[in-house]
Amino acid sequence: MSELKNIFERICSQALKINDGTLARYIPELANVNPEQFAIAAMTVEGECISYGDDKSLFTLQSTSKPFTYGFALEERGEELVHSKIGVEPSGEAFDSIIELEKKTHRPFNPMINSGAIAIASMIQDKANNVREERVLNLFSELAGRQLDFNRDVFLSEKKTAHRNRAIAHLLRHFEVIGDDIEESLDLYFKQCSINSNVKDLAAMAATLANNGVQPSSKKRIYTEENTTRMISLMFSCGMYDSVGTWAYTVGIPAKSGVSGAIFGVVPGKMGIACFSPLIDSHGHSLKGVYAIRELTKQLGMNIFK
Ligand code: GLN
Repeated sequence: MSELKNIFERICSQALKINDGTLARYIPELANVNPEQFAIAAMTVEGECISYGDDKSLFTLQSTSKPFTYGFALEERGEELVHSKIGVEPSGEAFDSIIELEKKTHRPFNPMINSGAIAIASMIQDKANNVREERVLNLFSELAGRQLDFNRDVFLSEKKTAHRNRAIAHLLRHFEVIGDDIEESLDLYFKQCSINSNVKDLAAMAATLANNGVQPSSKKRIYTEENTTRMISLMFSCGMYDSVGTWAYTVGIPAKSGVSGAIFGVVPGKMGIACFSPLIDSHGHSLKGVYAIRELTKQLGMNIFK
């Protein structure tokens, strides 16, 4: 672990030299964050966690939440129902593509892009005394190993300006991928995106996937092994959107990014790694985060094809 700290330090000093990228201004509240922040963390499947940099800074999960709600829907509604509405193919398009649904079935291509994630949100149901947004917050709190909260300002900011996601949701309604609860499904989707966490929380979520669905600190099983494998597989083929081929080729681990500058990778059977740095590229990936996770994977020899 002390070797890992040295590697973190070296990667951080190199990453800080990268100054390209922009804040995700299309969600107005995300334009207010300090662009200089950088944090990296890893949690092993034994539950040991190590972090470096701004590891107390909070950020919203944004699209890094998508694999976890996908897994939740698999657990709750079953594979057959989930995939009767959502495919398992990379779309080759940006995360917010509005035109791309599968030709014959009109399903979203996969649960890692906005259309698929909104469809997933529509499948998560209220339970007695526990409305679905609370159930989703509980899920993420269990994954992180501590109580998390929604960032209300980011939630409201996205809700107010989400014309594109709203258009996607109406298209999904038109093709009967989702029902009449369009606004409710969008709200739940914006809420999962607005969950506040730090880089250690995200590493713990990633480590749960590395550990076959069992949270390494609490030892609580959150996903079945089968569903965990499904989540990681789709992260590998679709998690980095239209740059997933380059990612797979150069990094070689399943990963997921979010426009807040959060990014995480899963090294099955070994560890979860996470990075946060807000300046993103045109695909919506943190530039420093991509560099950091690529370097870490390389330096630890963790490419899964190696
Ligand atoms: N909430 C964001 C959106 O729907 C998430 C996108 C992302 O992180 N790539 O636009």
